[in-house]
Amino acid sequence: MTKTLIVPCPICKSPVPREEETFPFCSERCQTRDLANWASDAYAIPDHNTPVDFDLDDEEHKVIH
Ligand SMILES: [Zn+2]
Repeated sequence: MTKTLIVPCPICKSPVPREEETFPFCSERCQTRDLANWASDAYAIPDHNTPVDFDLDDEEHKVIH
């Protein structure tokens, strides 16, 4: 029983054998592109939260005065 597991590359969908060093990606280029996707996702979250905190602080000052 010698089976070679082959999966489609998550980026470009070309078949990748399990023995590949960059598995499950077909190449280093696709591996890097996937990491870049994650990085841009991580940056989007803190950017969204920061302005909301400042807005609440300003309104509290107005109520006290
Ligand atoms: Zn690929």
